[in-house]
Amino acid sequence: CGVFGVIGVKDAANFVALGLHALQHRGQEAGGIVAHDPVQGFNSARRFGYVRDNFTEASLMETLPGPLSIGHVRYSTAGSKGQTAIRDVQPFFGEFAMGGAAIAHNGNLTNANALRRELIERGSIFQSSSDSECIIHLMARSLQRSIAERMKDALRRVEGAFSIVAMTRTKLIGVRDPLGVRPLVLGRIGEGYALASETCALDIIGAEFMREIEPGEMVVIQDGEIESFRPFEPKKPRFCVFEHVYFSRPDSILQGRSVYETRRQIGVELARETPVEADLVCPVPDSGTPAAIGFSQESGIPYAMGIIRNQYMGRTFIEPTEQIRNMGVRLKLNVNRALIKGKRVVLVDDSVVRGTTSRKIKDMILDAGAKEVHFRIASPPTAWPCFYGVDTPDREKLLAAKMTEDEMCEYLGVDSLRFISLDGLYRAAGEAKGRDAANPAYCDACFSGEYPVAPSDMIEKGFAL
Ligand code: 5GP
Ligand code: SF4
Ligand code: MG
Repeated sequence: CGVFGVIGVKDAANFVALGLHALQHRGQEAGGIVAHDPVQGFNSARRFGYVRDNFTEASLMETLPGPLSIGHVRYSTAGSKGQTAIRDVQPFFGEFAMGGAAIAHNGNLTNANALRRELIERGSIFQSSSDSECIIHLMARSLQRSIAERMKDALRRVEGAFSIVAMTRTKLIGVRDPLGVRPLVLGRIGEGYALASETCALDIIGAEFMREIEPGEMVVIQDGEIESFRPFEPKKPRFCVFEHVYFSRPDSILQGRSVYETRRQIGVELARETPVEADLVCPVPDSGTPAAIGFSQESGIPYAMGIIRNQYMGRTFIEPTEQIRNMGVRLKLNVNRALIKGKRVVLVDDSVVRGTTSRKIKDMILDAGAKEVHFRIASPPTAWPCFYGVDTPDREKLLAAKMTEDEMCEYLGVDSLRFISLDGLYRAAGEAKGRDAANPAYCDACFSGEYPVAPSDMIEKGFAL
């Protein structure tokens, strides 16, 4: 998901709509905006579909006045199966002592089921099926005397990954979980401030990037002042390495590193680790593009656009049902036949998850007359599900959970299939010595099976580590 908030500007909701539009790659199912105006109070709108199709209508935006606003773009993750219900679209808003608050959450809470049971037993009335709603109820029950203190109370009870943008009547609040699994950045715009999942959303509104919210940090912004708190016990950060590989936009800056440059460097590492003789290096667009450029630069094999992407389709994996995803490949990608015919092609993609996309792409490339197809993948085999806010399917559906690399190669029907090593990935992401097994710098659970936060709800449901 993507979160965005802004304070201290006129008609803040318009800025939020723009910010969410720049974060659309993080969630395409639905979006929501809450705004507060001193006269009108809180207003909100939730819509299915793209931000640009909903939050550009003047008649809707006029219902969201005020200098303070937050928003969210959603795609459903672990726990939520199938289509999102409108009641699950964030931000969530609740009125309780001290006025009330709205929150937008990126990530996934790993103890939400247990918390929800407890809260319902104690009388909470849930409005949605979302894990994030627990935070509002925990805040409402806290005995603390300010909303920021109530939020700290609530967040000390939750486990998992959370980058949160929240608002009260007067404050914009940003928080990252102690491991800092998901990103969150702070920017300045005129006299006001903005919080966003990624820097590309600051760029679109012309805000100046100030810094990241640090893992375990909470900032409270009011009347042009920023206060910083450390509500949690300090831990060694474990940022999601897959943000670097796939999830974030390549024009964003994460941890002081250009996402594009990290991806290009993954391609360089990949070419060193798994060389191959071929005529062309082609990306599977768009997610494989920077790594393919790096692979081509390092190997000397010419880069070419062997697959053309229809720009009017979104990210296929964000479509929540298998059937739509299957269709999606052909609706989205087509082979550049004239280029491919008779060639030995290296195809570079970011990941192999179910293998559905990769198999179809291989078929299309061979149909077009390619002589050989070699897959090079910019992440290690995805053998474990993510419980921290990226939508990977159940373990049984992950190709790498059931097959060795050779078996996957045979299943996909390609001439070779190779993945970058975890060490190579870490080097590309700025860890010169590779992955420190005793103390990894990133979360890499979907590749290593080492979960930095125990997925307790899933373990309760029978998930075996
Ligand atoms: P596959 O061959 O595993 O079906 O699809 C791999 C491609 O689709 C990659 O380009 C990846 O970006 C995307 N993809 C497909 N399904 C998923 C998924 O469930 N999670 C993630 N993170 N990416 C996926
Ligand atoms: Fe990121 Fe994978 Fe960790 Fe999920 S499990 S947070 S996708 S590295
Ligand atoms: Mg892709």
